[in-house]
Amino acid sequence: MPGYRRNNMNRLENLYRQIIMDHYKNPRNKGLLDDARYRKEHIKNPSCGDDVTIQTYCEDGVVKDIRHEGTGCSICCSSASVLSELLKDRPIEEALTISDNYTKMIANQPYDDTIEFEDALAYQGVRNFPARTKCATIAWKAFESTVKEVDDDE
Ligand code: ZN
Repeated sequence: MPGYRRNNMNRLENLYRQIIMDHYKNPRNKGLLDDARYRKEHIKNPSCGDDVTIQTYCEDGVVKDIRHEGTGCSICCSSASVLSELLKDRPIEEALTISDNYTKMIANQPYDDTIEFEDALAYQGVRNFPARTKCATIAWKAFESTVKEVDDDE
């Protein structure tokens, strides 16, 4: 029944909204560190005021720590918290693969849906709102450039 299905969809959307609001109100790994081992990337999205800085510390090809700081909409700020949990303690290549596929999911392009996105799955609905895709990916872009810099130096 269409009505029943619509209820299920609403329930899923509510769950996703709760995940996003939880990370927005109680951000994990927030606050930058004054530590020279960390690499930093700052990106702004003037269209909605998002301003995010991602700081990562990598060692032996592994993302050992991710910090974030910034201001902006709930989607942008919460996604920085989500990625800091999801990508921490992963090999750099694996983190980049997840980030790449997340970006494709948000852009409504084919992506590897066997990847366990965990809380990041909550943003899949953003693909229906093209104006917000930047909000959902800006922190991920910043993350990618912090770990790609490490590659360049090696
Ligand atoms: Zn935004």
